[in-house]
Amino acid sequence: MRMLLGFLILWLASWNVIAAGDITALAGGRIIDGLATQPLEDSVILVQGERITAITNRAGIPDGATVIDLGGATLLPGLIDSHAHPLMAEDDYQTFHLQNSSAYKALKGYRGMQNQLQAGWTTLRIAGDADVFYANQDLERLRREGVIHVPRLFGAAHYLSITGGGGDLNYFSPEQGLHVDGLVVDGPEEIRKAIRTEAKYGSDWVKVLVTGAFMSVGDDPRSVQFAEDELKAVVDEANRQGMPVMAHAHATEGIKMAVRLGVRSIEHGRYLDAEGIKLMRNHGTYYVPTIYVGDYYMDPRNGTLRQQDTFNDYSENYRHIFIDLVGKAHRAGVKIAVGLDLGGYNYNASLNARELQTLMEAGMTAMEAIKAATSVAAEMLYQEGQIGSLQVGAYADIIAVTEDPLANISALERVSFVMSNGIVIKNHLLK
Ligand SMILES: [Zn+2]
Repeated sequence: MRMLLGFLILWLASWNVIAAGDITALAGGRIIDGLATQPLEDSVILVQGERITAITNRAGIPDGATVIDLGGATLLPGLIDSHAHPLMAEDDYQTFHLQNSSAYKALKGYRGMQNQLQAGWTTLRIAGDADVFYANQDLERLRREGVIHVPRLFGAAHYLSITGGGGDLNYFSPEQGLHVDGLVVDGPEEIRKAIRTEAKYGSDWVKVLVTGAFMSVGDDPRSVQFAEDELKAVVDEANRQGMPVMAHAHATEGIKMAVRLGVRSIEHGRYLDAEGIKLMRNHGTYYVPTIYVGDYYMDPRNGTLRQQDTFNDYSENYRHIFIDLVGKAHRAGVKIAVGLDLGGYNYNASLNARELQTLMEAGMTAMEAIKAATSVAAEMLYQEGQIGSLQVGAYADIIAVTEDPLANISALERVSFVMSNGIVIKNHLLK
């Protein structure tokens, strides 16, 4: 009996130790929490399970907590890419699906997402992807089941396009009855059916190609493709399904129509004008300009896509005008989020931080650019308080860098520590 009691006490004691050890304390030099205008000095973040439970100092670390000493590093919220295409191939994104199954894409995409996580990007919003089925939605399901570690995934499995538009395949003979990887829809009825199907299989955003695209063969970015009654049906059906709409829009009138009809965000907006900026500010429409992708493809090592020349011509001759426009939108009070729009399974995800650099070129401070990749993006996703900020109750998506990102934003290309959902994914600061 005495022995049994002894075992019981031992068992309780060990259980107790485990319970206290359940708390992880991240001790860094300072914290950029994604919300405040100034960093917090000498702070410690306490994590229990998948959430942040306290922000304190070294004296506030409870006994028995596991301390991860990050030295003088700066801690930040995990970064959010608000325009990602993790299932797109590097060379020919429009026809890759004709040769490769959705399962193949899922596994390749999984590897790419691990790279994103290693680089500090803990959330992606999928802006439609190059997959006939729903591999991204399956990957998110596996993440939630705790089977794999990938960034949190929001967004749309596919983009909606008109026949002959940016999401259609426009360089094959009419005899070819090809499957496209987007949803080619015409008229309100087809649109409603497509959105209901997206919702059924796990999309939580609707992506619509309101205007033409630079990178789709045979397409003109200055053309407005969906008619007003069609776009109205997009927003109406999306609202009924509780899905926000992200609108790919370059052409000036296409941008304005989308904003007036109530989309949540404008993607790219390369021919935005002053009236469009005013409308976006008044409607509270978010702007995801995706600037860096143009610079990326200008590099001859990366520029292998079809219709590369049109985009390069724009980047070469109009980049300064675009940067100026983004600056005007920012100064007018339009909320801007970081989005990369980089396809390719194997691209170096550290380069994502270059989008923050281009936003600074447009006039943002380093702190504003960091917010564009954290709290502003979280707000756009209706996830404020959950991700994109370091505060009590938020998910423990936390990164650390050894250099000062406020002095040199490229520090975010060299992320040394990554915690995702309370789990340490990477720690190069381990002593
Ligand atoms: Zn895109």
